[in-house]
Amino acid sequence: MKPTAAAETLAKQLALVIDLNVCVGCHACVTSCKEWNNAGAAGPMSDTNAYGAGPTGTFFNRVQTYEANSFPATQTIHFPKSCLHCEDPPCVPVCPTGASYKRAEDGIVLVDYDKCIGCKYCSWACPYGAREFDEEAKVMTKCTLCVDRIYDEQLAPEDRKPACVKACPTGARIFGDVKDPNSEASAAIRERGGYTLMPEWDTQPANHYLPRRITEAPLSGVNSSTASSAARPAMAGCGSASCSCATTATAATAK
Ligand code: SF4
Ligand code: SF4
Ligand code: SF4
Repeated sequence: MKPTAAAETLAKQLALVIDLNVCVGCHACVTSCKEWNNAGAAGPMSDTNAYGAGPTGTFFNRVQTYEANSFPATQTIHFPKSCLHCEDPPCVPVCPTGASYKRAEDGIVLVDYDKCIGCKYCSWACPYGAREFDEEAKVMTKCTLCVDRIYDEQLAPEDRKPACVKACPTGARIFGDVKDPNSEASAAIRERGGYTLMPEWDTQPANHYLPRRITEAPLSGVNSSTASSAARPAMAGCGSASCSCATTATAATAK
């Protein structure tokens, strides 16, 4: 494999396109990424105190969930994030050993573990916090775009996709060549308002996001003037005779 020269424009650039409108925050992509990469060329990915207090670990893909806006117009946003395989990746030129590199043939940014000395310069340079230092192996890691899977001819053609893409139950993750105008990834970016993160950094991320598409869904009996907890309507509950959710909700509302 051939590393790129600085800021070289490539004919092919593999990437993920993530649809924030249909991501439900289930973490299937996170767990399938961890499982695949624990056993593959990138693994094992260390975990520390996994079942105790303050667990930490190495994850190539994380889903950050946060709440936006104010009640009753709150939105829960699930935001999957992994390495964006930037076209001009600042993590590459800062690496003193050449361990951090971008492949010329498909634009994937990788780390050569045998060359990495764990100095963490690349994680300081990445503006997206996408690098993951493995505290046990003492090397830098990150999303590989499942490079050990997408070219594996032992797999059926339909399975030569990243593990996270295969696992997503809502189809929120699209994989493909964003330089090929006929790819599914390019079509999604073009037709559904795809955008990149923090373009002002000039890193030209290859991964794109598709925006949430807001639809009106009026909440019966709730508006901004009745936003206090005392004024919220009592919940009807799930309807099951054996479940106390309606009673619990009503009691909580009455406090
Ligand atoms: Fe390069 Fe490894 Fe240092 Fe990152 S941590 S800059 S990959 S040597
Ligand atoms: Fe490098 Fe960060 Fe861009 Fe990935 S997201 S290529 S780690 S700068
Ligand atoms: Fe993980 Fe592979 Fe998805 Fe990257 S492409 S987030 S390594 S499963």
